[in-house]
Amino acid sequence: MKLILFGPPGAGKGTQAKLLIEKLKLPHISTGDILRSEVKNNTGLGKQAKGFMDAGKLVPDALVTEMVRKRMQEPDLKNGFILDGYPRTEAQAKALDDILKGGIDKAIYLSTSERVVVQRLTGRRVCPKCGTNYHLTNMPPKKDMLCDKCQVGLFQRPDDNEATVKNRLSVYLKECSAVLDFYKKQGKLEDVSGDLDSGEVFKIISEKILAL
Ligand code: AMP
Repeated sequence: MKLILFGPPGAGKGTQAKLLIEKLKLPHISTGDILRSEVKNNTGLGKQAKGFMDAGKLVPDALVTEMVRKRMQEPDLKNGFILDGYPRTEAQAKALDDILKGGIDKAIYLSTSERVVVQRLTGRRVCPKCGTNYHLTNMPPKKDMLCDKCQVGLFQRPDDNEATVKNRLSVYLKECSAVLDFYKKQGKLEDVSGDLDSGEVFKIISEKILAL
């Protein structure tokens, strides 16, 4: 099954992806995670992407699409995947159809309000070692701002401050209407409220949308 999860930053894409991976046993591809790792490793792509990411802007289509094209050739994706964070623009959606030939199966959109996005992202803290997300109030670590698994100090992503979050959301909403229309026309779009708690969202996706 080739699934896309999309929605504004903070919609809960990462959480739903994790739940779906466990259930469907499919690889998870997050373009945000791949880009952050490229930046961390100071690769050529990372160097080109960093400025855009720190400013909360989209990395240019050509760079991200090339990265996705390479990832799609790897053998672990032969039974499908859960793609998170891509496509973000109509050009990316078209490029993905081109890369996959037969296109995707379903695009699940987590529509989420600004109030909820700001609350979730400004309170998010991440483990630098394993990448697990926490939240200051919604999902705090067990002790002292340390990752429950790695016991390493959590950090705040540089793009999770309120001004950058609002900018990321407005960039996202401006761009995403074309992606929504693209999959709506193909009859593949499924709209779920990302304001609901993660358990309810997962129930709707797995039972109503995927009939698992
Ligand atoms: P995310 O973790 O999905 O919120 O992505 C973090 C940042 O990576 C975004 O704010 C963008 O700068 C960049 N990024 C991730 N995916 C894409 C994409 N499909 N197109 C352009 N930029 C992206």
